[in-house]
Amino acid sequence: MPSSTEILIVGAGLAGLRLASQLEERAIPYRLIEARDRFGGRIKTHLVGEGYFDMGPAWFWDGQPRIHALIERLGLEIFEQYAEGAQSYEDENGTVHRGVGASMMIGSKRLIGGLAGLIDAMVAQLPNHKLATKTVLERVEFDGAHVQAFVTQDGRQEVITAGHIVLCVPPRVATQKIKFQPPLPLQTVHAMDNIATWMAGQAKAVAVYDQPFWRTAGLSGDAMSRAGPMVEIHDASPHRGGPYGLFGFIGIPAESRRDEQKLRHAVLQQFGRLFGAEALKPRQLYLKDWALDSNTTAPLDLKPVYAHPDYKLPRAMQGLCDGRLLFGSTEVAPRFGGYLEGALEAADSVAHSIEQTRQESSAHAPKAIA
Ligand SMILES: Cc1cc2nc3c(=O)[nH]c(=O)nc-3n(C[C@H](O)[C@H](O)[C@H](O)COP(=O)(O)OP(=O)(O)OC[C@H]3O[C@@H](n4cnc5c(N)ncnc54)[C@H](O)[C@@H]3O)c2cc1C
Repeated sequence: MPSSTEILIVGAGLAGLRLASQLEERAIPYRLIEARDRFGGRIKTHLVGEGYFDMGPAWFWDGQPRIHALIERLGLEIFEQYAEGAQSYEDENGTVHRGVGASMMIGSKRLIGGLAGLIDAMVAQLPNHKLATKTVLERVEFDGAHVQAFVTQDGRQEVITAGHIVLCVPPRVATQKIKFQPPLPLQTVHAMDNIATWMAGQAKAVAVYDQPFWRTAGLSGDAMSRAGPMVEIHDASPHRGGPYGLFGFIGIPAESRRDEQKLRHAVLQQFGRLFGAEALKPRQLYLKDWALDSNTTAPLDLKPVYAHPDYKLPRAMQGLCDGRLLFGSTEVAPRFGGYLEGALEAADSVAHSIEQTRQESSAHAPKAIA
């Protein structure tokens, strides 16, 4: 990876990739670095035969214009969350009641191929040499005219000099993992730590089956439970054919789910109670505990969030380091913050402000005398 660039984007989740593609379109030089060995951030999909099972986000909704436009532009296809049949409810004693309430996720949209398909299509449109995985930003120094980013790439230390740095990283993860020189003002650190990372403390279980036996039994796969460990369960099958799937959000606190074997056992038992003996023998049982993943979750995120936060870019996070430090993860999007749509919204807003700054500085640059 070359050691200098105009814009250094940190984090190749949906927001970082969107910003890269916006800068690519505008022919603004950039580099994109990502700590993990894969792109996508909170988007992670397991492929099993023809099946695709999202371990992070799975849904998007009508009224979210950017994600729909992006999917269409990339030639990908959408289908609706399966919601035919009866919903189930498990009370605190583990007794299952059928036909209670209506499916909560009816009308939610999913992507054929899973959301990793969106990430793959975005990456395929970007020049490979501008992207680097396994590259962790550890320290940032501002010297007035530049930003120096100290990164570890595949174990090696490197310095990247940039005009601007954009953190497309959850703000709480940034305060945990990145050192700033000079240190950020205290009110900025406080504002960053105040922004809960959406869904960060969550864990998801996906069971993969050869047959959709719950559908044949007249069940939608939707269930709510007060017995746990899963609190909300839905069908996770692909749009057509199998293998099929059921998934659940685990509702017990992060510190009580450290014993993975015990958790797997409890999850299977619950699938069995809700959907019958066939559910006890999945082809695969995947667990993803986002609370254990420090690239998504900071210690402050282990405290449960009960309502969708009111996301925006706080004043204390604006105009920092002569405007050279910018933020662009979904958590700073004012309208759709927290969602996939918010990641696109945040990235678009940063791209717009970078373009404006460039136009203003070229307007002020000394003109050649004719
Ligand atoms: C279980 C779960 C379910 C969800 N369900 C939905 C849903 O159904 N619909 C919906 O709209 N949203 C949902 N969300 C939220 C959705 O995932 C996010 O809105 C979106 O993926 C955020 O994208 P992002 O690019 O802003 O951040 P991220 O995807 O978190 O990307 C940040 C990136 O920064 C990288 N990074 C971190 N630190 C560093 C560093 N120091 N150096 C370099 N790179 C670094 C990380 O590895 C990561 O790749 C869900 C999230 C989870 C966890």
